[in-house]
Amino acid sequence: MPESHENPLLGLGYEIPFDRIRGEHVQPAVKELLAEAKARLDALPTATGPRTFENTITALEQVTEQLDFVMGVVGHLESVATTPELRAAYSAVQPEVSEFFSGIALSEPVWNALKAYAATDEAKALTGTRKRLLEKTIADFKRSGADLDPEGKKRLAEIDVELAQLTLRYGQNVLDSTNAFELVLRERNELAGLPEGAVLAAKASAEAKGLSGYRFTMQAPSYLPVMTYLDDRAIRERMYKAYATRATEASLDNRPLVQRILVLRREKARLLGFDSFADLVLEDRMAKSGHAARKFVQTLRDKAQTHFDRENAELQAYRNEIEGPDAPAIQPWDVAYYAEKLRRARYDFDEESLRPYFSAERALEGVFAIASALYGVRIEPSPETKAWHETVSTYRIVEPNGHASAVFYVDLWPRESKRDGAWMQGLVTGVWSPKIPASHLEVLAGNLTPPIGDRPALLNHREVETLFHEFGHLMHHASSCVEVRTLAGTNVAWDFVELPSQIMENWCWEKEALDLFARHHETNEPIPAPLLERMRAARTFRAANAMMRQLGFAEVDLALHVDWDPARDGDPTAYGREILSRHSPAPLPVDHAMLASFSHLFSSPVGYAAGYYSYKWAEVLDADAFSRFKREGLFSREVGAAFRSEILARGDSDDPMVLYRRFMGREPTLEALLERDGLIASGTAVAV
Ligand SMILES: [Zn+2]
Repeated sequence: MPESHENPLLGLGYEIPFDRIRGEHVQPAVKELLAEAKARLDALPTATGPRTFENTITALEQVTEQLDFVMGVVGHLESVATTPELRAAYSAVQPEVSEFFSGIALSEPVWNALKAYAATDEAKALTGTRKRLLEKTIADFKRSGADLDPEGKKRLAEIDVELAQLTLRYGQNVLDSTNAFELVLRERNELAGLPEGAVLAAKASAEAKGLSGYRFTMQAPSYLPVMTYLDDRAIRERMYKAYATRATEASLDNRPLVQRILVLRREKARLLGFDSFADLVLEDRMAKSGHAARKFVQTLRDKAQTHFDRENAELQAYRNEIEGPDAPAIQPWDVAYYAEKLRRARYDFDEESLRPYFSAERALEGVFAIASALYGVRIEPSPETKAWHETVSTYRIVEPNGHASAVFYVDLWPRESKRDGAWMQGLVTGVWSPKIPASHLEVLAGNLTPPIGDRPALLNHREVETLFHEFGHLMHHASSCVEVRTLAGTNVAWDFVELPSQIMENWCWEKEALDLFARHHETNEPIPAPLLERMRAARTFRAANAMMRQLGFAEVDLALHVDWDPARDGDPTAYGREILSRHSPAPLPVDHAMLASFSHLFSSPVGYAAGYYSYKWAEVLDADAFSRFKREGLFSREVGAAFRSEILARGDSDDPMVLYRRFMGREPTLEALLERDGLIASGTAVAV
């Protein structure tokens, strides 16, 4: 058969032919890989001779290896370069694949083989990563229903298939609803207050659609400047309300989906013997239970509450100061606008004044330079690696010994065929052995402010942090030296996975690090010292609001997955709105429906559900761990090597708290985070 007729998804290796993968390839490839996986699974319990690690645990690992890989590649393409055909094909295979995955633990012969192996002397003598893998596999099987009776297993499988379908549709509704919105303003004078960059972007966006005037969308680089700078209150209100009601229009209404997803998750948890979905999910995380996670959120809320109230009173007082004592109460669509004005007044600091110093290209070079300093690696272009779009660049990481440990793609700009947000995805997680070093493949994707015409892409500071954040995930994946695929790379507990990413954001605030890359795109000057000082001083500005916002999301997530009872609490959107209101600086509108577009919780069967607190949890870890770099050297090769070998390289090969203690020499404390946010004075001791 000529090559063009072959299915590029079959026999997929380290070099992925993205230019040849089409929607039509998905179903035949997945059908074949599913059949192979089923055959491997069926063969596992029938192995001749005694049960061994090889014929049981390794064999189980291999059952899904290729299927996982191909589904990862297809899912990735659906995220960055979707087409109606690809989306339809991906949706079509999803139920069967998820049914197969959840069926593994429900197979009686496989479960019996696993238990038989666990009872052998070989299993009892296991140590290290292999011991952990066996223990985790058994716990996973139990959480997946291995001990249920046939009726229970059948119901569980139905729940999982329905959850996979509902959550996929939820995500697609959010994307479609986000894309469906546009606001086109005809007159330049309607844009008063908006920075020049945002005006140009809105003009370019209109032109791209064959329209005259200025086009605004729900995508972050378009939406956020409007909320922060646009003087016209009515337009801000309109944009805010559209954003807060995304995916509630009749054909894309996610609210019934949310209710159904929550009901199914609750039923699933009870079926498996857990009090709540949070307990089911968190058993395997650092927090261990829904109760412990809520206690953590509560502790931080207690620390933040008085600062939060003070900040909100200050903002209203500021509005009264500039608009008179009868100025109206601040509404949600006013918060960012007046906060930015107050920030400028107080610190003489305008976020936008930094943008000329942050070209995306140099920011990327900067984070590469920091990785080189800390880990001794070289990061260089990999032009022979082919991507899915002409704006995607490719690189490789070369270790001091010359081994190329990873190849990665960087895809930074928004496109309509790409989902929103920023993320890192590992496409190939290499397996390490003493003789063969691992080789990894990953993607760094974002929706940052794109270049316009000849002007380079100029980022704001938050976007630079995002870039550093995702690069932190990338280094975590790319540094993996774990002998077992499912415990390698970023396959770690969700409340640990943000440590390697969030810690990188700290370097964006340090002068020595900024001096490596933050240069004016026209004059090549570094950020002037007074501007940098003001930026750093403004860092703790409204920090309690930033914290409360995250705690609100964490609390609504935990409340929905611990307390919410459909009979007692009814409509989850209203229930969630009430909780979010308590964490909001201004009362939320009655039709506010954030849960309809809260993709973290509802666009995959588990995702961040019952795990949103992890962001704050990881912030505690990242602030605390970064304190060692601050103490011993921002570019210390020694601390870098310790961080890489004790944390980044270790994946999930040991308990995360053990890994953390090996790096820090002790358990984490809240102190560094509260201090960084200006919520306590330096030197106050606080236990986690
Ligand atoms: Zn992250």
